[in-house]
Amino acid sequence: MMNFLISAFKSLPTPFYYYDLELLKANLAALKKASSPEYIVHYALKANANDKILATIKNAGIGADCVSGNEVKKAVEAGFKANEIAFAGVGKSDEEILTGLKSDIFCFNSESAEELKVINELAAKYNKIARIALRINPNVHANTHKYITTGLEENKFGINLWELDSVMQLIKNCSNLKLIGIHFHIGSQINDLSNFKNLCTKSNEIQQWFEERNYMLEHINVGGGLGVDYHHPDDNSVPDYKGYFEVFDKFLELRKEQKLHFELGRAIVAQCGSLISKVLYVKKGVSTSFVILDAGMTELIRPALYQSYHKIENISTANDQFSIDNSHKYDVVGPICESSDCFGKAVMLPETNRGDLFAIRTTGAYGEVMSSNYNLREKAKAVYSDEL
Ligand SMILES: *Cc1c(COP(=O)(O)O)cnc(C)c1O
Repeated sequence: MMNFLISAFKSLPTPFYYYDLELLKANLAALKKASSPEYIVHYALKANANDKILATIKNAGIGADCVSGNEVKKAVEAGFKANEIAFAGVGKSDEEILTGLKSDIFCFNSESAEELKVINELAAKYNKIARIALRINPNVHANTHKYITTGLEENKFGINLWELDSVMQLIKNCSNLKLIGIHFHIGSQINDLSNFKNLCTKSNEIQQWFEERNYMLEHINVGGGLGVDYHHPDDNSVPDYKGYFEVFDKFLELRKEQKLHFELGRAIVAQCGSLISKVLYVKKGVSTSFVILDAGMTELIRPALYQSYHKIENISTANDQFSIDNSHKYDVVGPICESSDCFGKAVMLPETNRGDLFAIRTTGAYGEVMSSNYNLREKAKAVYSDEL
């Protein structure tokens, strides 16, 4: 179990997100150590855009990956260098494109022919040259939950291979676009590295396609998606970055001077966050008992949205032998009026009582950022390890 500061937690209003900044720093140090000079890592802001998290990541010398105009603005405000900001997204509005143009960002990862035309028009109007990478749909499986797979032809993302010819014709006629790279992002929470190997193979083929037409690409961007260990957050608190980069090192054919970009979100921030919640009631059912928490799908929607697993711990009873000896199964649920508002079914936990504190682990990514005020709930606060 993580070293939670139970005594400090007891005096704080629940639920709240707890962020271990030391762990985040250890993660970033491991990432830096495993990376190499021709690799450029961008942090995907959509995983967690809290100021303190962003400041810590920026200080590690990492770029930013944004999927909205407001994320671009946020990245600039947080001090990320404009020439290290990539901007992806299947539906960028004119206003969002302008935000990117005015900030002189590194690159627009463009997802359709129609979008390219709009970027070109707006760039011409404001006398800018927009740097472009084509987000190509490589038709590679990610073997992850269907809601977080993005690299198949049936997904809405990217330009399909059979469209490339006409898109390249279009780019030739767009004088305010400069094609500098190609971009992929095949999905999220990918733990089987062979999926990335397949992406490398596809990327090599596509790179060749461009070279045969005399286009030299300055960079290849392989997106993000590296998974984390939701089942063993303490044993694997930092992802295997070395193994991850080795796949690209071995299988992706990088040309001389060419840079390889990555856009990691979850892998960087997931393990440093925990949702801390108090037990409101323990309700005995016929075959199950329910632990009813004061946190629900409004604070953490991943279980309801993607059927995702999070490790659940009763942190009040960590050293209470009687409770541990009387462990049994509980359904751990939230207070929201939805049956999907459930964090875990038949979870083995120590004997649990009203007032106990629970930690829902590995919630630093796609947790707080996806919270809502459904049922007119208050937004949960963020608490950082350096403030306790
Ligand atoms: C979400 C997203 C990422 C980050 O994905 P993770 O699985 O969190 O690493 C990277 N690139 C793009 C384009 C994305 O949409």
